[in-house]
Amino acid sequence: MPPRPVLVGVPYDASSSYLRGSAAAPAVIRAALHSAAGNPWAERLVKAATPEALEDIGDLALPADAGARALIEDAVARMAQGRRPFIALGGDHSITYPIIRGLRDHYASLTILHIDAHPDLYDEFEGDRYSHACPFARIMEEGLAARLVQVGLRATTAHGRDQARRFGVEQIDMRAWADGARPSTSGHVFVSLDLDGLDPAFAPGVSHKEPGGLSVREVLTMLDTLGGELVGADIVEFNPSQDVGGITAGVAAKFVKELAAQWIVESD
Ligand code: MN
Ligand code: MN
Repeated sequence: MPPRPVLVGVPYDASSSYLRGSAAAPAVIRAALHSAAGNPWAERLVKAATPEALEDIGDLALPADAGARALIEDAVARMAQGRRPFIALGGDHSITYPIIRGLRDHYASLTILHIDAHPDLYDEFEGDRYSHACPFARIMEEGLAARLVQVGLRATTAHGRDQARRFGVEQIDMRAWADGARPSTSGHVFVSLDLDGLDPAFAPGVSHKEPGGLSVREVLTMLDTLGGELVGADIVEFNPSQDVGGITAGVAAKFVKELAAQWIVESD
């Protein structure tokens, strides 16, 4: 039996630059995941949203300050130590830096597939090097990923472009996507899914709504056809205070189910 995947909430939004609110996301995503409006089956025809298939360890208890990072890193390192694949529910995107730090002693060569409207490569943002605009600069500076592949970009600045060159980041922006470019991954893979990578028509419940993004189906297909071994994922930047009719909550829950299904062999 492969190890059972873990669901963990990371309710931290103190490194958001514009609007807070994503700390409320884990509870709202769980409610959508278990809503009687749907069922626990994933598209691969395995049951994914049940305690037998996906162990929910609840939310990390985190302070709303820099002390949260060490706690996130430790929690992830414990899961990685036990070879448990996991889905972390943010929270803002700053949580990805301590998450990847938690993996570094356990997966020597990591490829990160990062879906986002923004490259999140700022050296610092408004004086904060740990802002949700900066996690991938910290990750690449520390050599925590062998490859960083970014998809969905459509709000890159000249600084973001320069940082990508500096770190050798592979960027598939929405213009390249429209031309048919697709990511390819292998080895140990971590997926970091910022919901603003989706078009706001599909996921309005985000703090930074950027038109011209990916559809839910495009992201699902990308995840379903991922190369390599998925070792973990995060779903970040869902801000329930910005949602419309629970649409984004349902999208986040769908991604939980479909990602978890990749670690589940069979159900009856
Ligand atoms: Mn982001
Ligand atoms: Mn973003």
